[in-house]
Order: sequence, then C-alpha cells, then structure tokens
Amino acid sequence: MCSVSTRSVIRWLFWSVGLAACYILVAWLVLGVRSSELILWPSAAVAAFGLIARGPSMVPAIALASWVSDYMLLGWGLQASALIAAGDVLGPLLGLWLLRRRARWQGFETTADGLWFIGAMGVIGAGVSAAVGAAAAATFGFGQTPVSPDLGVQWWVTDMASIVVLTPAAELLRRVSLQTLRAAFNGEMVWLPALAVIGTLLVYLMPVGQSALPIGLASLVMLPLLWSAMRLPLAVSAALSAVISLLIVTATVLQQGPMYSMLGSDRFMSMQIILLAFASAMLLAGLLANERTVALKQVRDINATLEKKVNRRTAALQISQATTQAQLRFQESLLNALPNPVAFSDPQGRFTRVNVAFNLLVGLSGPEIHGRTGTQILGTTLGRIWEDMDSELLSGSLQVTREAPYLHPDHEPTVWILNKALVRDAVSRQIVGVVTSMQDITAIKQLQQQLSEDEQRFRFLAEESPVPLVITRTSDAALLFSNKAADSLFRGSYAEHAGQSMRPLWGDSVDRDQLLARLQREGGIVRGVEAQFRRFDGTEVWLLLSVTRGRYRDDDALIFAFKDITEAKARESELRNLAYTDTLTGIPNRRYFLARAALELRRAQREGSPFVVLALDIDRFKQINDRFGHQVGDAVIRCFAQTCMQQLRGPDLCGRLGGDEFAILLPQTTRQVAFDVAQRLRLSIQEASCLPSSAPDGLTLTTSIGIAEFLPTSTLMDADELLDRADQALYRAKQAGRNRVEIWTGEAPAPV
Ligand code: GH3
Ligand code: MG
Repeated sequence: MCSVSTRSVIRWLFWSVGLAACYILVAWLVLGVRSSELILWPSAAVAAFGLIARGPSMVPAIALASWVSDYMLLGWGLQASALIAAGDVLGPLLGLWLLRRRARWQGFETTADGLWFIGAMGVIGAGVSAAVGAAAAATFGFGQTPVSPDLGVQWWVTDMASIVVLTPAAELLRRVSLQTLRAAFNGEMVWLPALAVIGTLLVYLMPVGQSALPIGLASLVMLPLLWSAMRLPLAVSAALSAVISLLIVTATVLQQGPMYSMLGSDRFMSMQIILLAFASAMLLAGLLANERTVALKQVRDINATLEKKVNRRTAALQISQATTQAQLRFQESLLNALPNPVAFSDPQGRFTRVNVAFNLLVGLSGPEIHGRTGTQILGTTLGRIWEDMDSELLSGSLQVTREAPYLHPDHEPTVWILNKALVRDAVSRQIVGVVTSMQDITAIKQLQQQLSEDEQRFRFLAEESPVPLVITRTSDAALLFSNKAADSLFRGSYAEHAGQSMRPLWGDSVDRDQLLARLQREGGIVRGVEAQFRRFDGTEVWLLLSVTRGRYRDDDALIFAFKDITEAKARESELRNLAYTDTLTGIPNRRYFLARAALELRRAQREGSPFVVLALDIDRFKQINDRFGHQVGDAVIRCFAQTCMQQLRGPDLCGRLGGDEFAILLPQTTRQVAFDVAQRLRLSIQEASCLPSSAPDGLTLTTSIGIAEFLPTSTLMDADELLDRADQALYRAKQAGRNRVEIWTGEAPAPV
C-alpha cells in the first residue's frame, strides 16, 4: 500500500510539474511572439487538458502556473494574479464537474461528446474564468497594461477558442500509441490521404503569386474533411495534420509558400485562424468519422449476429431434416423387417402402403396392391372379413381383432389373426386410415387340434383303465377327476362328488400331508405308499397308491393311481396273529409271552418297579388225557386258560407255554401280592368245573404254581432266567405234593 501511494505521489508530482511547466512555457511563447493580437491562449487548453487527463489533483499546479504567468510574465500585480488564478481553476473545475455529471461522457467518441465538451469546458468553464479575470481587472487593474472595455468578452473568446481547439487535440494525441498508428498506416487507404497531403503541399507551394493563397488555404481546410470522408481514424488525421503544419511552418521559415508572402501581422493572424479552423474541422470531422465507424461497426455486429442466427437456424433445419429422414428410413426398415404382414389403407379401404411380408403373402408388389381393396387383393373369404372389420373400426371401435382363414390359389389354406387399429393425423386427430397387422396361427391351430385329439384319446384310456385313477386339487383336495374303476373302488360316482374335498376319505388326514412333503422331497412322484381310506359309504379300505404332482386343466393337482390291498392286509394281520397266539386256547403263545416278558422286564428296570412271573402246570394231566381222551384234554386246557384269564387284571398277561404249562406275568406286583393272586387262582381252578360230567366224584382239576419275583435292586437278569426260576419254584410245588404255590427263593422254597 505504502509503495503504491508513494508511486502515485511521484506520478502526481511529475504531472503537476509537467503541467505547470507546459502552462508557463506556452504562455511565455505566446506572449513572447505577439501579445497584442492574441486570439488564442493555449494555457487555458493546458489547464483543461490537465483536469480531463488527471482530475482535480491538478488544481494546485494549474493555480500556481496561472499565478506565475499573470504575475511574473504579464506583471499584473499580486492580488489581481491571485484572483485570476482562482478563476482559472474554478472555471475548468466547474466544466469538469458538468462533464462528469453526464455519465456517458467517456472522452471524445461521438459528436454529442464533442458538443458536451464545448458547452461545459469551452462555454461555461471559460466563461467563469473570463468573468473572474474581468472582475480582477476592474477591481485591481493590470498595472501598466491598459484594460479595454470588452476585455471579458475577448478573454472568454480567446480561452474558449483555445480550449475547444487544443484540448481535444492534446487529449487525442495522448491516447495515440505507436501501435494504433502502425495499425492505421498498415491499411491500404492511408497512402491515398498521404498523396493528398503531398498534392496539397504542391498546390500550396506553387509560385503563382497572390492568387495561390486562397487556393492553398482552402485546400488545407479541405484536407481534414477529405480524411473524415475517407473514415480515417482521428488519431491518423491528427498525425497527418501535425505533419502538414510542420511542413507549412518549415516552408514559411524557408521563405516559401503564400504564408511567407503575407505581411508579418497578417501572416500571424491568418496562421492562427487557419490553425483554429483546421483543428475545429478536424475535430468535428474526426468525431463524425468516429461516429460513422461506430455506427458501421454496430451495423456490422448486427449483420454478424443476424448471419450467425441464420446459420444456426439453417444448421438446425438441416439437422431436423436429416433426423426426420433418418426416422423415416428407420420406420421403413422396421416395417420391412417385421415377419408379420402389415398394411395401411385409407378410410375407403384402399391399400396405401404395405410391408415386404404382406407382399410375400399375397404374391404381389406394392404398386400392384396400392389403391385396391381387401376383397380385390385377399379374395372373398378373407376380404369380406377384412372389410367388415374396417367398417366396425370406422363406426367407433378402438381396436378390432378377429381370426380368419386365407385361401390362396397357389398355397395351402392358412389361418390368421387380424389386428386392426385406426390411424389418426398427429396434429388434427382426423382419421387418415386403418393399420392392419396379421399373425399366422396355422401351426398353433394344428397343434390345438392335435392336442384336443390326444386329450380325448388319453381321457378315454383313463376312463376305461382298470386301475382306479383319481385327480384332486393340491390346495384343497377337491375332486377334479375319477375314472370308473375309482368310482367303484370308492363306491360313489364322480358326477356326485366332483369338486368336493376328498380329505374325509383319508383314514388319517396326516397321511396326506406327509405324502405332500414326500412329493416335495422326492421330485414330484411317490410310489408304493400304503394308506387306509374310508369309502363314500363309510367302509374302510386299504390302498396301495402311486401319486404324482402336476397340472390338470388350470390347477396344481395330485394324480393318484390306486390298488385295493384290503384283502392282503387282512391276511397279513391274520398271519401275524397266528404267529403270536396259541391256536388251541386263543391266548398268547410262548413266543409272544416271552417277548412281552422281556419288554416288561426292561420297563421294570427303567422305572424301578417290581414284577412277578407265575409258572403254572396242571397236575397229573396225562391221566385226564388217558382217562377221558385227548379231545377232553384239549377242552380242559381251554377251560383252564379261560379260568386264568377271568381271574387276571388288565395289565396282567397269561400265556400258554406248551402242553399243560402256562405262565402269568403280573407287572408292578410284589411276591406277597403275587402269592395271594396265585392262591386265588389255584382255588378258582379247583372250583371251576373244567372236568367232564363223566369224571368220578371227588376228582378235581388242580394246578401247581411257582412264583419268581423280579426286584429292581437285583442283578440283571433276562425274561428266560426269570421264567426258569418260576419253573424251579413250580417244580418244588410238584415235589411238595402238587396243588400248591411255591416262591423261588434260591435253593429252598421260601416260607411265605
Ligand atoms: P404232573 O402232575 O407231574 O405234571 O403230571 P402230568 O401227568 O401232568 O405230567 P406232565 O405235565 O409231564 O404231562 C403233560 C401231558 O400233557 C403230556 C401230554 O400227553 C399231555 N399233553 C401235552 N399237550 C397236550 C395237548 O395239546 N392236548 C392234550 N389233550 N394233551 C396234551
Ligand atoms: Mg402236568
């Protein structure tokens, strides 16, 4: 900041000193040459120029220079000089203020700028300083210099002339740079004005006596006008003026030209007048030229803008034209690439445009088709349908679709689906025609036919199959189909139960859910599942089924094939019973008894509960056989078994181990309780009249019973071992005289 302000102070000083020196020097020169016939006071122009170029900061320099000129050069007294200096500052300052009030005043650009300058600086500014000067003269006098009565007016005119003529020239010259001059002189037109300068000088210097003067002067005045007519920049014409002035002065000093031939005072006066006219004409003509240049530039700019706009519009038009053409080409190729025949027709039904597929279908070229109707091109069958559709569409339908056969003389008949829609104008929405697209469905039709024939065949097979077949919906088990065999299996007809849920027919509904899960797991087919079903009449039936999951009509369905296995199941259960039942008595046999005994033993071990096994053997049974026969023996054995069964509780189990040997299992029973049970049993056998009536009185049927107890605390033993112990106790009972109960206690029979 500091360096910047120092630099600006230095610049101010430079300008101030330069301006003041220039002011004083010019004043000294003018006064030195001829003070009595002054019509120009160039120092006023220096002051105006200083203010325009550097602003009010030049005020001290102007004031000082004015005072020095008046007081020292003219010798006008101290107060008068001071007052005049104040006036010389005040006038131009007021002029500058007025100029700056005009916001658009940027310097000498237009004629209006020139006029503003003349008004503000030349008329008002000079007027103020002249008025102040006249007042100073009236108040203080000018020392030895006489004061004429029209001093104020003379002063005003002199200052005004100087400011108007010299300030713009100085200001313009200030702005002329070497570059602008070089640029201007590079133009071709500069040689012509330069020739004019030479020509003018030749005319001016021609030695033709007194008559050459007006011609020479007139030609000098004409020069700037000529330059401005040639649109030379102001800078160039100013430079040329400087050159010509210098040449005239040089010629006059060298005692050549009309100026030299004049009297001394006339010569000086006319030189000033010439200079004044010359500069004014040059300034105004230059400004005019400048204005014209600006106007021309504006016109050129406008032209360039217009041209650019036109170019842009043209380019945009070309692009949009190209785009439209590309779109049309695209539509065309798209239409022809379609495998389906497409045709456009006008509202009267005449073809206007068709694609290649349509040409191929009818075997005719575009020109052969265009302008003709549906019936003419497609024959009566398809043609009539075509035209019916057109009229349906034109009477208000948005779109019409229909199936139609096409009979071509050279080809097999084909079947088509026709789609028709109206074509409207994009802007007016008026109907301009109909577009028809066609799709060949011949193959689909044939396939449909084939499929329906196949379906009929399969349906017949399924209906008549001896294998019961049922189809139900997966989601709700609704009956969708059942054949005759299935109807007779389930004892109900499909007609009666169609759509009903088949869930109630499943013996256990969980089976169906398990089946669905298996289907899911095993890829949609499950074979060989046995399940119990209930028929429609409520009877039960065992079925072997194979099932697959698939679609039936529109449903996700389960397709069942059944085989009735009820009889096989019954036989199987019978065989199973035979394996575990004693055929003579119908009570469990030895195998079953031992298996159950083993189970009970494990449970007793697990639960820590006691249980008991009784071994029974009929006393002296051989004698009964011997005395009454084998059949009676069998009957006695059956009676014995029934008596035992009657005496036992629910969980107890009685089995025939073979011959006249029986065993009884008493779960959760101690040996004391078992002993009571055995005694009661022994007595009831004795009391039961199992013997035939032919048996002698006093003969009774008795049994000996051995008891073995399983204790959870005892060491591990199996069912056979326990039964063996009971047998040992039984043996002791037999030994001890029969018809008694013994408990296994190890070696000797245990006391109860
Ligand atoms: P003990 O008091 O010692 O038991 O004398 P017992 O005569 O009963 O002798 P034992 O138990 O050894 O004899 C059983 C007899 O039972 C032998 C056999 O002839 C007879 N028997 C075995 N099975 C049958 C059968 O199914 N029916 C008939 N009627 N008798 C049978
Ligand atoms: Mg016996």
